[in-house]
Formats: sequence, C-alpha cells, structure tokens
Amino acid sequence: MGLEEAALYLHVPFCRSKCPYCDFYSLPLVPERDLLESFLKALKKEVLLRREELKGFRFVTFYVGGGTPSLLPLWFYRDFFGFLRETLAFSPEEATLEANPEGLTLEYLAGLREIFNRLSLGSQSLLNQGLRALGRRHRVREVKEAFRAAREAGFRNISLDFIFGWPGQSLPLLTRELEELRLLGPEHVSYYELTIEEGTPFHRVFERGELSLPPEEEVVRMHEMIDSFLEEAGYEHYEISNFARPGFRCRHNLFYWEARPYLGLGPGAASYLHGRRSKNAEDLRAYLQSLEAGRLPPREEEKLSPEKRFREAVILGLRLLEGIDLAAFKSRFGYEVREYYGPRLEKLRDLGLLELVGGRLRLTRKGRLLANVVFRELV
Ligand code: SF4
Repeated sequence: MGLEEAALYLHVPFCRSKCPYCDFYSLPLVPERDLLESFLKALKKEVLLRREELKGFRFVTFYVGGGTPSLLPLWFYRDFFGFLRETLAFSPEEATLEANPEGLTLEYLAGLREIFNRLSLGSQSLLNQGLRALGRRHRVREVKEAFRAAREAGFRNISLDFIFGWPGQSLPLLTRELEELRLLGPEHVSYYELTIEEGTPFHRVFERGELSLPPEEEVVRMHEMIDSFLEEAGYEHYEISNFARPGFRCRHNLFYWEARPYLGLGPGAASYLHGRRSKNAEDLRAYLQSLEAGRLPPREEEKLSPEKRFREAVILGLRLLEGIDLAAFKSRFGYEVREYYGPRLEKLRDLGLLELVGGRLRLTRKGRLLANVVFRELV
C-alpha cells in the first residue's frame, strides 16, 4: 500500500518579547546553545517515540512556526532537517519558515534557503503607526529590507502576514498599506482581523475600556477593501484570510483546511493522525523533562467519531472559497451534507450566507464576513 501524504509542523516556543495581542505559546527569551541542544534532542526523541504512529505517512510539507523561528541558528535547522530525512518518509516539496523582520541578515537568509523554499514574514503592517499600535518591535524599513534580502537570498515564494482592525486604523490608512504591499509584490498574503484574546495585555486594557478599536462597520469595509484590492492586484482569494498568486497557495495550510493528516512536534503543537487529534501541553519544561526521561510529553488526545470528523471537515472546508464538494464528502465520510444538516443549512442559504454552486457548498461574500455565525450553526 502506498504512503498517505501528510504535513509536518514544528513549533518553536521562543520570542524576543511578547506582543500584547498574541496568545500563541512562546516564552519571552532568546535561547542559548545549551537550551537549543536540549530542545533539539527532545524533538528527535519525540519523533522516535512516535515512530509507530508515523508509519504509513509521507511528509510532503514542512512548516516551522511559533514563536519566532528566525531566532534559531542555522545549525539547528540543518541538523533537524537531516534527522527527519533519515528517520521518516520526509521529502517536503514545500518547506516554510516563519520569520520576524528584525535582525534578518542576507547571510542567515541564504543559509535558510538551502533548507526552506518558502518564507512567511510577520510584517503585520506596512505603516509604522500600525506597528506601534500593535506593539511590534520592528518598523516598516526592516520589513522592506528583510523582503529584499530574502529575494536576494533566492526566496521566490514569500508570504507576508498582516493584521487589520488595529487601534487607530482607518480606511485611508488601509489603502496606503495596500499600495505599499502591491509595490513589494509577495506571492502570498494573509490578512487576519485583530481579535482580543483572553489573557493578553490587549484584553486587560480592552476590558478597562482603554483600547479603542475601529467601529464594526468600518472593520467590515476593511474586509471588503482588502478582498477587492488584492483580487484586482492578481491574487486568488482562496481562504477567508489568505490570498495567493496562481500556483502559490500554502500547501501546508491546505492540509488543515482539507482535514488531512498532520504531525505537530514541540510544546503546544497539535497533530491529526489516524482520526485522532492530539496536542502537546504548552509547557517547554514539561516537554524537555518528559522526553529526557524517555516519555512522550503531556498531551490531550481525542479520538474523533466518524460523525465528528465529518462535521469538522465541513467547517474547515467552508473556510476555502471554493467550498466543499458534496459528492466527494459523501464518498469520504458517508454523510450527505444537505441531508445531514437539513433545515439548518436551508436557513443559512435563505439568509444569503451559504450557496450551492455546481455541486459545491460555499460561503457567500456575506457569509465570509459572518463566517463565525455559520460555523456556530454547523458545528
Ligand atoms: S513575535 Fe509572533 S509569536 Fe511572538 S509574541 Fe509576537 S505575535 Fe506572538
């Protein structure tokens, strides 16, 4: 039997400092050599202990996220990449590293390029006002320098990440940012609306009424402006928050949205293999100690019933603009989407949030703006 394709994610749990809106798992520290060596050893051990679970898969994408992966030295990635090649069926056609713009040198980028063929740059805004409002350490000049250096280092597939709806942002400011973005011309763009996550400094200030975000109607118009601007600039809008030039969709993230298998390594990383979902605890110390002692790190696990797998796949698949293929879903999961959801689905169609086109169910433009309402109804 052939091997099933899967994605491989590595979580780097370090950042220079924490951004006030971020709830991703990372510690505010730049790791020294000793800690990096322990982390590398623990990652290898995690792979070896999970080897049985990984048989039957061929890993075709590799994604290093975080945290701030660009804090780690080249030797770390060279070593781990070599180990994965020797240990697993690991032949990534797409290998992405997330990088923060500050401190990226041409020499470092050229070294990365020997391993990675895609760079995801955490620009977040192309206006200094936006970067200050988001509490980011870098400035626009550093984004532009990092982008040019990445091109010079040979990256032909660069994604820029943005946040919109930050305090003080207006439609004219967004227009200026989009013009700057067009001049840079990355192959891929992600635009996420700022969300106020519990436990973050932004949440505390927001609760005290001291964080004033743009009004909701304005944020809706920002959504529309981003979509139409990027579509006119030649990007395919292929997922609610993601845009790509033809041929440059993120293959790794498509594994998530298409509910296909993925392995996550490192503290806080999630996996979905053999219909079982698991997530390592967000605790670097416990991760290192458990693996040092020859045990897997603490993690939550859930075996999904076929019905739950189906419902999750519907919601993930609706994030894609092309939506879900009803016949393919029927043969993959054994459920017919329209029969399964019945009146709930009809109601969403009547409200103009979902539409059926050529055997596919997808969100309408209005449905994309209210995607959470749709997902709550179908979960
Ligand atoms: S650099 Fe990224 S991962 Fe780190 S705190 Fe900021 S937003 Fe979060």
